[in-house]
Amino acid sequence: MPLDFTRLPEGLQWRLIVHELAHQWQGNAIRLGAWQDIWLNEGFASYAEMLANEAFPTLGGHSPQQIRAGWEANLRRSSRATPLAYPLPHEMFSLESYDKGAWVLHMLRVELDDLAFFEALRAYIAAFSDDTVTTLAFFQFMERHSGRDLTSFRAQWLEQPGLPRATLYWQPEPGGVALRLCSDNPNQRYTATLPLQFSDATGRTQALPMPLDWLSNGATIQQDFSYPLNIIPAQLVVDPGEQLLEAIRAERVEALPNCSG
Ligand SMILES: [Zn+2]
Repeated sequence: MPLDFTRLPEGLQWRLIVHELAHQWQGNAIRLGAWQDIWLNEGFASYAEMLANEAFPTLGGHSPQQIRAGWEANLRRSSRATPLAYPLPHEMFSLESYDKGAWVLHMLRVELDDLAFFEALRAYIAAFSDDTVTTLAFFQFMERHSGRDLTSFRAQWLEQPGLPRATLYWQPEPGGVALRLCSDNPNQRYTATLPLQFSDATGRTQALPMPLDWLSNGATIQQDFSYPLNIIPAQLVVDPGEQLLEAIRAERVEALPNCSG
């Protein structure tokens, strides 16, 4: 039965059109070398929805951050145990291929910066049109074009399943804040910058980019941080601009608890 566009909510109509148009590049002009690389097709087409929204902010009534937050909410609920690069046959069209695929492209853009990312993407489309691609070939091309080593980026987002899951306890201390990160990811490594935004009782804010580097070997990992602040923190928002795919919950405490407890 043909899809009746007029019956879709307005915000979804344009997203569906953009998504399917984007497949003319990723999916039709550039084809997959193997079905396991399906995230390249669906991640690109999904990311195009957000890029269209960035270019035409009045489309659909959601900001790019809200679109990324929607993908993130889906992924926080996902229980898929296989990495994005190695879906089981029945997982090929699971939401991870779409939502995590789009997130991976966004984080690659943050990693490379806008200019390098879009230049490399244009060159990639020119180089691979009428050809096939694999996940490895895509990353090798982006590395050559940007001059950046993306080995650990690919390992943490493509080769291990899920997303960083943790509780971030925080406690105001004189002149700053003390934090303890309790990670729930068994046997995983994540290296990233977690944007934090503190605000005081009057609403003044201070941003704090917190470097994460956790390697957990089966057990919960505990990491402590301490930073000076110019404000007395009353509230903490984790990743206010939706720059990092994560499920990190902040909790204010009177005393930092042990992670195992
Ligand atoms: Zn699609």
